[in-house]
Amino acid sequence: GRFKQGLSRTRDILFTDIDDLFSKKRVIDDTLLEEIEESLIMADLGVDLCLKVMENVSRKSKKLSTANELKDLLKAEIQALFPGEPSAPEPTAVVKPRVIMVVGVNGTGKTTTLGKLAMKFTNEGQKVLIAAADTFRAAAIEQVSEWARRANVGIVKHRDGADPAAVAFDGVEAAIARGIDVLLIDTAGRLHTQKNLMEELKKIKRTIAKRLPGAPHEVLMVLDATTGQNAISQAKLFNEAVGVTALALTKLDGTAKGGIAVSISGTMEIPLKYIGLGEGINDLQEFNSQLFINALFD
Ligand code: GDP
Repeated sequence: GRFKQGLSRTRDILFTDIDDLFSKKRVIDDTLLEEIEESLIMADLGVDLCLKVMENVSRKSKKLSTANELKDLLKAEIQALFPGEPSAPEPTAVVKPRVIMVVGVNGTGKTTTLGKLAMKFTNEGQKVLIAAADTFRAAAIEQVSEWARRANVGIVKHRDGADPAAVAFDGVEAAIARGIDVLLIDTAGRLHTQKNLMEELKKIKRTIAKRLPGAPHEVLMVLDATTGQNAISQAKLFNEAVGVTALALTKLDGTAKGGIAVSISGTMEIPLKYIGLGEGINDLQEFNSQLFINALFD
């Protein structure tokens, strides 16, 4: 339900005429295959992936007779692009505090996603703390404080301009002292001083590890779906610098480029864990490729 509603714009673009594309009346011919290919490119699946998918679809479709069978084939080929999802759920809360460093370029929805996660973990009964380590802009500290208030969780902050690594360090210290389950660390995302930003993020990471070996347990990178293929180059850049372990893709509700979720999963080894489907505190979903594909095609 939520998936389908949130992805409506991608659905519209992907298959404006989904019923028409795969209607019983359609025969499987080159025209139909071309129309599908066009839709996939429009949805920002990425040209390479799209060609790969269509090559397989076109070869295997020779054995098919109905457009509906073609739709199932297409869904299976797209599903195959996603890494297998773990069959058993991940063991929960083995480490305490679990430290999640949230990174991403300004404007992608980093702070919003952090707030949503604070709410999600709180709802799951976990004790959450936020560290406001984006000290570059005073507004960022205020903004993340507002999310902490909304999610009703604690926050560790210094004045703006303070050393972000020192805030992160204090966050870990406080999390240990207060018996916190999950520490969420907000970080800066200014891109115009890219080199400095990467050094800053590396330093935060080192500092956290010094206080708590093994931390951060997750480096979650937030990407904006509306930036399309750009999101992938951002992810590669951050990954090289700080080693990204999971991805969150925001604003899927406002874009027709939902294919970017497939594109990311098909080109990067890093799992897509969360998707943002709105601005509200509860508009975050755990990503599931099968639900995602069903939401687009059915
Ligand atoms: P940051 O600069 O990366 O921390 O970005 P913000 O968290 O301030 O978000 C930037 C804008 O994107 C805000 O207006 C958010 O409300 C909006 N936003 C964030 N996530 C989503 C989402 O999943 N869907 C929609 N529609 N808007 C979002």
